Amino acid sequence: MQRPNSHAIFTRAKEIMPGGVNSPARAFGAVGGEPVVMDRASGAYLFDVDGNQYIDYIGSWGPMILGHQHPAVVVAVRAAVEKAFSFGAPSPGENELCELIIELVPSIEMVRLVSSGTEATMSAIRLARGYTGRDRIIKFAGNYHGHVDSLLVAAGSSAATLGVPNSPGVTAGTTQDTIICRYNDPANLEEIFAEHGSTIAGVIFEPIVGNMGTVIPTAEFLQTMRELTWKHGALMICDEVMTGFRVAVGGAQQLLDFTPDLTTLGKIVGGGMPIGAYGGRKEVMQHVLPAGKVFQAGTLSGNPLATAAGIATLKQLRDQPPYEKLEQLGAQLGDGLLAAAQAAKIPASLTRVGSMLTLFFNPMQPTDWDTASQSDTTRFARYFWGLLNRGVYMPCSQYEALFISAAHSPADIQATIAAAQEVLAGFGEK
Ligand code: PMP
Repeated sequence: MQRPNSHAIFTRAKEIMPGGVNSPARAFGAVGGEPVVMDRASGAYLFDVDGNQYIDYIGSWGPMILGHQHPAVVVAVRAAVEKAFSFGAPSPGENELCELIIELVPSIEMVRLVSSGTEATMSAIRLARGYTGRDRIIKFAGNYHGHVDSLLVAAGSSAATLGVPNSPGVTAGTTQDTIICRYNDPANLEEIFAEHGSTIAGVIFEPIVGNMGTVIPTAEFLQTMRELTWKHGALMICDEVMTGFRVAVGGAQQLLDFTPDLTTLGKIVGGGMPIGAYGGRKEVMQHVLPAGKVFQAGTLSGNPLATAAGIATLKQLRDQPPYEKLEQLGAQLGDGLLAAAQAAKIPASLTRVGSMLTLFFNPMQPTDWDTASQSDTTRFARYFWGLLNRGVYMPCSQYEALFISAAHSPADIQATIAAAQEVLAGFGEK
């Protein structure tokens, strides 16, 4: 597959943007080589600036659950453009989107719109601290919550470790109140609460992890987290930026049946436009300014174009739920990819929840960062490039989930499996 225009644009991009990109995840850093520069998207497909077509399994890293350019969303955004780009004043779209979020996400009684997932988690952490009057936050190794300073902390060891920043520019002071715990390890969580319980403001977690590849929590882990946070007066902060409206219309909390105190949302809630949101019990949310004293603000928060895309997307998901279709396509793809790896005698495992899945080049299904990080990333890179050059656009890291949209067809999935069979069979036993 030739990409001369992509190459020329990216070569220039490297001179004017750090690493040629505006967000590192899209730079193909984990697999080596140049990213593809995109021109347009439609349904399940991306088209690059050289006219090559790809079946898209990133969906803008999650938001495009209906597929690209869904007609209902396009119509809604066009209508909004005719009225205003931004008000900086209350507008009815904000009510409508917040009503939908409250209707669909079981634990949310009151919500605040922001402009990204990072803002949502940052604000939820501040609220948890402001509400409880405590400083410490527990996060799990391998969970990602955006580039919030206090949450940019290295994966810990098996024991609880006080956070060590993993980016220059994040001070030790900012992360000293972050405690790292092992995912899916209730005993570790109990140890931490036993030692620090009275100083813990909240526990933030991905309810189904996407950011170390797809990793599924045990019921015991979630139950223990709920009980310990209740017992110690800390808030359970469920980061559904990736899982919200994805694994079920009410997110992972609906699918797995638990009730967090606060929930953060992003991606799908804006239908591809920049929105995030955080919400929860009214009594907690009332602490946010100007109802309460916890400061949080945003010039473009509740932007009318973004709310229009979000409303159209959520209404579509509510009124014509695609989740059964997504489950079928997910099963078809997951089973097909795993069988392709097995046929080629390549050690692999597959984790999946509905339309969110990961083929791990790792014979054991990961349950936490320690097990996920044992995957063969060199093999993954070969797999990734083999698929890309056959017109299949997968996430460019072993440690990302792939997403299927309602616009994918069984034929798209079959074509993807056929490409994977070809790529994996060509690996040999090198
Ligand atoms: N939380 C989770 C679980 C995420 O996956 C992400 C982004 N991938 C974020 C938060 C941050 O969202 P954003 O990139 O919109 O700031």
